[in-house]
Amino acid sequence: MIFHNVTVLGTGVMGAQIAFQTAYRGFPVIAYDINDEMIDKARKTINYLVTHYAKDVKSADDGALMAAQARLSFSTDLGEAAKKADLVIEAVPERIDIKRDVYTKLASVAPPKTVFATNSSTFLPSAIAEATGRPDRFLALHFANRIWTHNTAEIMGHPGTSPEVYRTVVDFARDIGMEPIELHKEQPGYVLNSLLVPFLGAAGALVANGIAEPRDIDKTWRIATGAPVGPFQIYDAVGLNTAYNISLNGDATSQRFAAYLKDNYIDKGKLGVLSGEGFYKYKS
Ligand code: NAD
Repeated sequence: MIFHNVTVLGTGVMGAQIAFQTAYRGFPVIAYDINDEMIDKARKTINYLVTHYAKDVKSADDGALMAAQARLSFSTDLGEAAKKADLVIEAVPERIDIKRDVYTKLASVAPPKTVFATNSSTFLPSAIAEATGRPDRFLALHFANRIWTHNTAEIMGHPGTSPEVYRTVVDFARDIGMEPIELHKEQPGYVLNSLLVPFLGAAGALVANGIAEPRDIDKTWRIATGAPVGPFQIYDAVGLNTAYNISLNGDATSQRFAAYLKDNYIDKGKLGVLSGEGFYKYKS
């Protein structure tokens, strides 16, 4: 099995990046979204990505960027978008009802050979597999935001995923310039968030319990481990609203950290990197 034609469902933050990266690496890609407005938005996102690639990716000269754009087309017709696809990568909103509905529709229009992969961050493939109508040809292929520099692709099947499909997706991930991370079993949060979420929670607890200041906690982590950034620099990159929402759902210490975030940062408009200030100040 080998993939040639790729279709991406959803052209938001991740879908646009996945579609462009795949086209950049030489695959013909159709990016599907629900209406023309979303496609217009996607075209703007692609222009924005082109400027990032030009800056961050060594090989991205004008010729390579133009060729990538030429390999990428858009559609609002699911049947058209899926009819020649060897692989469909789904990056629609993180709602189980939307995911299941999309797969049910996709199953009726995609050829039987087509492999489906979800980029879902929180739903296990086994929660979606039945709706795909082809559980053996379905798995998770999970990218990180800023795919062109943060190029991990976590590959996670469910118990019914065919080993051949799994291997082909691992090879595809490598072909599009990702570092494939193979998970042997289903794991909520994959590898990355299984590490990151408890790490950030532990840092939040140190602050909520009055043990140390965020800057000193970051400094400890950076100097003692050689890591380039500490947990509160990561919080700023994630965005403090997201951090607040996650902390609010945790235990009592985590909720105290949520209150700390709200009182000291969120209510003052300090939301992290995107707002120009969070635990640290950023140039615009
Ligand atoms: P987003 O909201 O930016 O984009 C979702 C896109 O899907 C929108 O363009 C929307 O119009 C489109 N859409 C809505 N309904 C649709 C349908 N029925 N069919 C096709 N498209 C539809 O979302 P996002 O942040 O790109 O997240 C997409 C997926 O990627 C989620 O599963 C999320 O868990 C995962 N993910 C997100 C990140 C991140 O940092 N944002 C990182 C890794 C994984």
